[in-house]
Parts: sequence; C-alpha cells; structure tokens
Amino acid sequence: MKKTVFVFLFSGLLSSCATVPLTGRSQLAFLSNQELQSLVNEEYTKALKTNEIVTNSDEGKQVSAVGKKMAVAVEKYLQEQGYGDLVKDLDWEFNLLKSEQVNAWCMPGGKVAFYTGILPITQNETGIAVVMGHEIAHAVASHANERMSTGLLVNFGFAAVSSAVGQNPTLTQEVFLQSVGIGSELKMLQFSRKHELEADRMGLIFMAMAGYDPREAPIFWERMAAASGQAPLEFLSTHPGPDRRAERLNARMPEALKYYEDSN
Ligand SMILES: [Zn+2]
Repeated sequence: MKKTVFVFLFSGLLSSCATVPLTGRSQLAFLSNQELQSLVNEEYTKALKTNEIVTNSDEGKQVSAVGKKMAVAVEKYLQEQGYGDLVKDLDWEFNLLKSEQVNAWCMPGGKVAFYTGILPITQNETGIAVVMGHEIAHAVASHANERMSTGLLVNFGFAAVSSAVGQNPTLTQEVFLQSVGIGSELKMLQFSRKHELEADRMGLIFMAMAGYDPREAPIFWERMAAASGQAPLEFLSTHPGPDRRAERLNARMPEALKYYEDSN
C-alpha cells in the first residue's frame, strides 16, 4: 500500500458519506474507488493465479455474456439516475475459475469471478443471472468500501486510522479480503447481513433490467439452500443468507416485474 493512499484516506474522513443507488441508503465510505483500486488490482491478479481460468470454455463464455449484458443494463440505469461518477469507476471483468468451491464474488470496480463449483446450482443462464445480479449489486452499492471503512475504524479508531493503517499493511489487506467475501472468517457478520439483503434486492432488479425473469431468483436460492444441507458452501459462509430469503424476494417481486416488462 502506498503512503499517498492513506493521506487520501484520512482527508476522505471529512466527507465520509455516500448514498446507495436504488435503495437510497446512506453509508459510510471514506475510501475513494481509486484508492481501493490498487488493492483490487493486486488481489484480483492473485485470485486469477490461484485457480485455472476457464473463461474461454462454453460455460465461461456464458458467465461472461450474462455479466456483460447485465453491466450494460445497470450502467444505463445508473447514468439515468445521476450516478455517472460511479459508472466511471466501473471497469467490468468477468471470469470463470476452475474450482470445486461453490462461490462467486465481485471486487470493487466490477471484477467478477465465478467458480465452476457453483454452476451445478445456477444450472442455466437465468440462474447465473441471479448470482451475477447479487454480486454486481455488492460492487454498485460499494459494500466493500463501506465494510472496509467500518473495519478500519473498528480496528484502528477514528483518530488513529491515518498513521496506524500505513504501519499495518497486512491487516489492511485482511480487512479488504473480508470486505469482498473472499476471507473465510467473517468478523463483520452484522454488516454483511444488511448488505446481503440489499444485494438480494438490488440483484433482483438488476437481473430484471437485463431481461431475466426475476421469478427465478427465489427458486435459485432454494436450490442453494438445499445444496447447503448436503455440504457447507463457501458462498453461504461469505454471503450469509438472510432469513426468509424467498419471502423477502417475493415481497420485492412486483417492483422487479415492472423492470422485467420494460426490458422486453
Ligand atoms: Zn452477497
């Protein structure tokens, strides 16, 4: 981590609130997306080296195609809603990695990875769109930034954050990995449940915007829940499932269906 990053980080504390698109929720976010980007580039490259990249396979091309289709729809919506600055910081990348892990994640700026282990549960293009919408929502809602901002404050305290972070690059990295759902130990479960609910809600709308039937989402999450009965799933350890997920999604369905109708 470069020292300049933390000068920015500290000055950023003064203007530390942002608004989440679509839900309108206020959030703590004192890192700028550019500041996060150096961490993202480092960790994304590392993640791609850890597993074989199979994006050129038929399944990989499908994952990538779904991602690109959704990115176009989401960016159009964000532009219309006055979030042009957010769109400028998005630089999408969609990869499929060979791994038995049932997982998928999206780093800030839109660096998405699916593991082949999740494909038996997504089953088809619409299933991929459910997970893709949820992951894209984490990036669009700047959840990693919010969790990292909160995590740094929890670990270092408000006043000490500037000097302490520079001396603890390992901990900074650890906080980052937890923030994007790669770390295995979740110390910020409470925040992540809030984020899961928000990502579910936004993901449902995003898939509908891209022309995927949102009514498939509760069905997909039921398949995910059933699979977790057979073995612990990485996805559910990094994305803890909100209670009554299907019920909550169905409550949002009329809104999602309006976007779905407009997309056709
Ligand atoms: Zn999630």
